[in-house]
Amino acid sequence: MPGNSQNRTENEPAGEADLLLFNADWVLTCSPGMDRLQGGAVAVLGENILSVGSTEDIRKNFICREELDLSGHLLMPGLINTHTHAAMSIFRGLADDLPLKKWLEEAIFPAEGAFIDSHTVYLGTLLSALEMLKSGTTTFCDGYFFEESAARAAFESGMRAVLGQGILDFPTPDHASPGASRARAEEFLESFGGIDGRVRPSLFCHAPYTCSPETMKWAKEMCRQAGILFQTHLSESAWEVDEIMGRYGRRPAAHLDSLGVLDEMTLCAHGIWLSRDEIATLAKSGSSISHCPQSSMKLGSGTAPVGALVSAGVTVGLGTDSAASNNDLNLFSEMDTAAKLHKVIEGDPLACPATQALRMATIEAAAAIGLEKEIGSIEPGKKADIIAVDCRRPHLVPIYDPVSQVVYSANGSEVAFVWIDGALVVDRGKVVAINEADVLDEANRLGKRISRKLGAGSRS
Ligand SMILES: [Zn+2]
Repeated sequence: MPGNSQNRTENEPAGEADLLLFNADWVLTCSPGMDRLQGGAVAVLGENILSVGSTEDIRKNFICREELDLSGHLLMPGLINTHTHAAMSIFRGLADDLPLKKWLEEAIFPAEGAFIDSHTVYLGTLLSALEMLKSGTTTFCDGYFFEESAARAAFESGMRAVLGQGILDFPTPDHASPGASRARAEEFLESFGGIDGRVRPSLFCHAPYTCSPETMKWAKEMCRQAGILFQTHLSESAWEVDEIMGRYGRRPAAHLDSLGVLDEMTLCAHGIWLSRDEIATLAKSGSSISHCPQSSMKLGSGTAPVGALVSAGVTVGLGTDSAASNNDLNLFSEMDTAAKLHKVIEGDPLACPATQALRMATIEAAAAIGLEKEIGSIEPGKKADIIAVDCRRPHLVPIYDPVSQVVYSANGSEVAFVWIDGALVVDRGKVVAINEADVLDEANRLGKRISRKLGAGSRS
């Protein structure tokens, strides 16, 4: 999408910009027209994108304080992870090859009880921020415990985040009694000065089977009053459908609808076991789905009916879920998996084309978490959350179709530069604000402690 630079004439005075990214081999805007600009440039002023267009036009029309020649690179919007539990990276590989219920009850819940506190959440979120930034993710939507500590890590890393304080109706690492869950959520919301900063609050009801109807309704009301995103897991397994049918006589999405918690500021993670009526209900409500193909594949949970959801008008964004069930937070590989998985499921090579996979990790992901007016595409006025992919790699040469290349060939290791709010947060592959070696060393030490305590007992 051309910026305002194209409306200027040669005689007009040049505008001023803080940063000029020019000579990019390609700029993928992820705007409504999914424009691809060859030899493109982006001008940034403060936190925002000022203009995008040809290098020639942008250079002619703007005086820039700082410039970066990006020949050999591809510019695109920062990727958006719509569902994760960032701190759980400390449990990466702790318990694999188990079904969801057994994985949760026999491995994850005991490990969380023994090791999750405000410091391990901070450490785990820093570890995840390193991984996400280095693979081109600029925004993550999270749900966990001690989310003030996740907020601290997000602030320090420079990442954009929507952070959901976890709510369950049984004791968890940050609230000992069931009733304390609500007090913790209130405390968390009060700890935020506002709801429109780079790091924003949210509430995360774990699931319809771990939160009572009253808890769900209370949390959604809190979110409505605060004007923030409400999150929950939904229909992740066939077991959940049976359980909720047994308890309430309705399938999970119908159950949530009956509670009045589905609207355009509700994000449901997974949405795998949905009936046709439930898909229609989600579409009518405006609720979004976070599609996490790799995690659901690994847990053997199933696959979200993305084609039917999108056809019905439901917004679907990509997520990784946690590193404990994925086992990484890499949206490049998630795009690749999503595009291929739906071709297998539907027996149709046209299912989930590369363009759709890219949109689910950018502009559709932004819409899924309620931030489509601010992020998700390279367009004038939006936040300057931009990544530069180094295309001078054997597996990225030659480029016939840059979208195909990003989805099917890139793996995230090529991300050379990342800007968030116009600030450089990854410089030539190195995260600027975090001491990577320190975080890796401490996470390794913690991993050894966890291994000594839980050892092989955590595995089936
Ligand atoms: Zn999850």
